[in-house]
Amino acid sequence: MECSLTARDRVGIQDFVLLDAYTSETAFIDNLRKRFNENLIYTYIGTLLVSVNPYKELGIYTKKQMDIYMGVNFFELPPHIFALADNVYRTMISETNNHFILISGESGAGKTEASKKVLQFYAGSCPSTRLLEGVRDRLLLSNPVLEAFGNAKTLKNDNSSRFGKYMDIQFDHQGAAVGGHILSYLLEKSRVVHQNHGERNFHIFYQLVEGGEDELLRWLGLERNCQNYRYLIQGECAKVSSINDKSDWKTVQKALTIIEFSEKDIEHLFAIIASVLHLGNVPFVANAMSYATINSSVEIHWLSKLLGIPSNMLLEGLTHRKIEAKSEEVLSPFTVEHAKYARNALAKAIYGRTFSWLVNKINESLVNKDSTRKTVIGLLDIYGFEVFDVNSFEQFCINYCNEKLQQLFIELTLKSEQEEYEMEGIEWEAVPYFNNKIICDLVEEKHRGIISVLDEECLRPGEATDFTFLEKLEGKMSGHPHFLTHKLADQKTRKTLGRGDFRLLHYAGEVTYSVVGFLDKNNDLLYRNIKEVIRQSKNTIIQHCFPAIEPDGKKRPETVATQFKTSLAGLTEILMSKEPWYIRCLKPNLCKQPGLFDDVMVRHQVKYLGLMEHLRVRRAGFAYRRRYEVFLKRYKALCPDTWPHWKGTPAEGVQRLIKHLGYKPDEYKMGRTKIFIRHPRTLFATEDAFEV
Ligand code: ATP
Ligand code: MG
Repeated sequence: MECSLTARDRVGIQDFVLLDAYTSETAFIDNLRKRFNENLIYTYIGTLLVSVNPYKELGIYTKKQMDIYMGVNFFELPPHIFALADNVYRTMISETNNHFILISGESGAGKTEASKKVLQFYAGSCPSTRLLEGVRDRLLLSNPVLEAFGNAKTLKNDNSSRFGKYMDIQFDHQGAAVGGHILSYLLEKSRVVHQNHGERNFHIFYQLVEGGEDELLRWLGLERNCQNYRYLIQGECAKVSSINDKSDWKTVQKALTIIEFSEKDIEHLFAIIASVLHLGNVPFVANAMSYATINSSVEIHWLSKLLGIPSNMLLEGLTHRKIEAKSEEVLSPFTVEHAKYARNALAKAIYGRTFSWLVNKINESLVNKDSTRKTVIGLLDIYGFEVFDVNSFEQFCINYCNEKLQQLFIELTLKSEQEEYEMEGIEWEAVPYFNNKIICDLVEEKHRGIISVLDEECLRPGEATDFTFLEKLEGKMSGHPHFLTHKLADQKTRKTLGRGDFRLLHYAGEVTYSVVGFLDKNNDLLYRNIKEVIRQSKNTIIQHCFPAIEPDGKKRPETVATQFKTSLAGLTEILMSKEPWYIRCLKPNLCKQPGLFDDVMVRHQVKYLGLMEHLRVRRAGFAYRRRYEVFLKRYKALCPDTWPHWKGTPAEGVQRLIKHLGYKPDEYKMGRTKIFIRHPRTLFATEDAFEV
């Protein structure tokens, strides 16, 4: 759709690829700002969708809007997330292959909202039957449940995803959504026991305390006051104006019922949530020998009741650890500090494993039992790149994950696109781009990467500390262009680094990590005897989460970072076999304000998301490509020479066909096996020729 010049001046251009002037970064940002000021938050770079968080409701996600975008050619209407969703869907149907939509951007940029809009579009627009409505509702309602348990208020975002989520939506050959599957990645468990100032624990705790019915709270031994629970108030912001815990509680309750959680499941689930709160309040005091004891404790009473574990076992497990001395096991008492540590480890383990159980349970409800072939659209919504004043192991994992996704983007788009031109013998001036593989290697390389060094240190209990880990890193990484510490830095930079820090120069910018807690969080140790105690629980979810034999069967479980690395490698494999689509979310300002467009901030994101490189590759390249056979089969009816049977080679047939259609020389190129078409409008015109 072409705009008049005046309208274009006002609302900017809707596809960066179409306008020559937009190859400069300043012009690119001007265009985004212009559109943002007109509440036009979406802009294309070819088929990539750029979205700028408006921080206000725009009324653009109604059923009416959905109908407008359904089944319409991608570039014929103003850019919209529904257009992208529709385009992916129709491509999947016509080519019967699998796709994924990668949604990226920093924390608070709008990834989760975007993923919900895509899901909403499929739920509202795909053909459906009575039977399938159940699947559709469960797909939609999995969101509020997972958000309640996996999202929290952070300094960057009042509803920040603290886990990564990949969701497959499965479609049958008629295009109906028939099932789904969710994979979750590394939940930030440390939040259960500790929150930084201005942040909260996971939403579900506050929802339960604020919204839980009187009778339920009484049964759980909870009071309706978040201030009474140590695990809820460390960030000193239990109440958040943008969040209504009470009504969210109702939504979650309803969702759990529709996803077919049994009454018993729900009961046991909330018994666990309440138990975590009680655990946080367990009072340890030092006895005459400086060992931790728990005097009369109402918390132990409730824990014992809710988890179905005898009080004396809980008391012993929370204040001692079993150690093997020669051939016998002896109980060694904890100090108060040590007891708190073990207690927190237990709370984290219980919550983390319950979260995994929850995801499994949702997956059971989304299983499609019919074994006919299905095609899939995957939706990836993972925590965004994160930089705080103090960054720890969690940020290290989150930012590593973002490096991996950037690597995937490079492999699947920037690199593969350019390699294809080369392979097809299309003349091409290479577009340079920064390949972040060097940073991925720095983190994950076998025997040499940061994760390997960390794991090595975790194997030396009692000897290794966070600081020996840092020293080892310094030894191994010295001279690496993306790694720096206080010792390795020049004099000027040294001032900006503490002695317990290391700095990574990520593709998205510098991040300084404090090593404090790295070993501990990577080990994620839960003492064996407390595990044995918890296994006695009558709570069926706990029984499921703490089986007598751990599923991986290894004596020593893999470290957190290594598990994460393995799961990211698995994710990469899943995605590599599918066609990629991208939504790049931008955050317009730091204060979550509508109408405020901070140029510097947007420029930074445009840079690190590689949008300019993507634009250059797209502009210099071709929007569409089809194998000659496919192209000919589709359009041969438009030319008397090729219809109904073409006897020559497909390439010659295509040549004859496009000559007949009047393609101009600069509109297309003939490769070895494919025709490349520069602009989508050329192809649309060809499609339209069918109707004449
Ligand atoms: P994180 O990495 O922390 O999970 P995120 O990228 O998933 O961040 P969202 O939770 O999707 O960020 O968005 C943050 C907030 O921004 C939302 O709660 C909502 O208030 C607002 N927002 C995002 N996208 C939109 C939109 N399209 N329209 C209106 N408001 C939006
Ligand atoms: Mg999110």
